[in-house]
Amino acid sequence: MTECDVLIIGGGPAGSIAAAKLVQAGHHVEVIEKIKFPRFVIGESLLPECNQLLEDANMLDKVIEADFQFKGGVAFQNDMDDIRVVDFKQNLGQKWNSSFQVRREVFDKILLDDAEEKGAKVTYESEVVAYNEETNIAAVKHKDGSTEMFHAKKVIDASGYGHVLPRLLDLVADSDLEMRDAIFCRMTGDIRPDDGTDGFIYVYIVGDNDAWIWNIPFNDGVTSVGIVCTDEYYKSYNMDQTDFFNHIIGSNKFSAARYANATKINEVGFIGGYSSNVTKMFGENFVLVGNATEFLDPVFSSGVTLALESGAKAAELTAKELSGENVDWQKEYQDYMMVGVDVFREYVNAWYDGRLQEILFSKEEEGSDKITQKIVSVLSGYVWDEDNMFVTSPTAAVNATYRALTGKEV
Ligand SMILES: Cc1cc2nc3c(=O)[nH]c(=O)nc-3n(C[C@H](O)[C@H](O)[C@H](O)COP(=O)(O)OP(=O)(O)OC[C@H]3O[C@@H](n4cnc5c(N)ncnc54)[C@H](O)[C@@H]3O)c2cc1C
Repeated sequence: MTECDVLIIGGGPAGSIAAAKLVQAGHHVEVIEKIKFPRFVIGESLLPECNQLLEDANMLDKVIEADFQFKGGVAFQNDMDDIRVVDFKQNLGQKWNSSFQVRREVFDKILLDDAEEKGAKVTYESEVVAYNEETNIAAVKHKDGSTEMFHAKKVIDASGYGHVLPRLLDLVADSDLEMRDAIFCRMTGDIRPDDGTDGFIYVYIVGDNDAWIWNIPFNDGVTSVGIVCTDEYYKSYNMDQTDFFNHIIGSNKFSAARYANATKINEVGFIGGYSSNVTKMFGENFVLVGNATEFLDPVFSSGVTLALESGAKAAELTAKELSGENVDWQKEYQDYMMVGVDVFREYVNAWYDGRLQEILFSKEEEGSDKITQKIVSVLSGYVWDEDNMFVTSPTAAVNATYRALTGKEV
């Protein structure tokens, strides 16, 4: 039996930041990672709040040194030629007003290597296959087929799409969002904007909000391109994923122009029904972080921000508990995390029902500095800022802005 203070399942951003923070607090941390790094995972566009979280964990320097593509903001473009450029510099004065577009195979390895250098023990190509909640013992199957038992004071499940503890403890819940799919590929040779927004993520809206296309540029000339739509819309085409990708990219006028001479550098990938949820985010001896909890939607690139925030928060509270202090996990962790998740949930809902797009494309809103700053601050990932009414009362703020700008009822 291997004894440790904290066992972390999974070495993505949530697991790495939790590991780094806990070893810096003096704890013995074991990270079990199923796959050999570098490994691909979807989710390449970061928000400025990520920089703040990484800085707080003493992990930002390594990311800056890696010289990723600078990301100054996001541009939304619809079929009616409306364009809205959201520059992160228009936020509410928060320190970080830019971020990065990252190849996750590179980014995630930098973070996990950093956690290891700081003192975490990382075991690759090993998988948590069983867990006893009462004894807090996990069974880990190694690459050579052997099984090792780990006993920890706390288990942090950062297994992302693996949903290890939610599956083993029957905590998986249905998402309240409609089932959507993502169909994606990396391409080279695209024509990028030459107006200073070349490092921005571009979001092209397809048709009457039928789908949207992400365009995430890396600094080596490769661009990540993905289509997001309801499963129903995808199936209505009766095409395989490659034909569907080619058809949508070729028929949207912005993507058709941008990728006219571009070449795919890998196979078209598909993730179906990506939204997920859990019935609870913690137990007596464990806590779920990152995508092992709830995943909403990629439209505002919030996934890694929420993964880092939850990993960092779970680590702080675990360190507090290990030092003998009492932790109210419901209040201090789950309720806290749900504040930020629910802000993004409102924006995701307002995106798909069209309210947010009408706000973003409204010329009056663009001219209204105060509202712009508050919305940009949310889109930068500052979703725990209690001075921002778009955070404290997201639905009321979005609806009031919508009514004021469009004259329409919600
Ligand atoms: C279509 C799509 C597009 C997205 N785009 C963005 C974006 O632009 N920006 C953004 O911020 N987010 C985006 N996301 C979300 C992003 O992918 C996730 O939020 C993020 O990767 C979560 O990080 P994590 O650390 O929780 O999990 P992960 O990064 O998934 O890491 C989990 C790790 O756990 C390991 N693991 C799994 N099972 C086991 C096991 N049994 N034992 C040990 N290890 C295990 C895995 O191998 C993996 O390395 C997108 C998501 C989707 C679906």
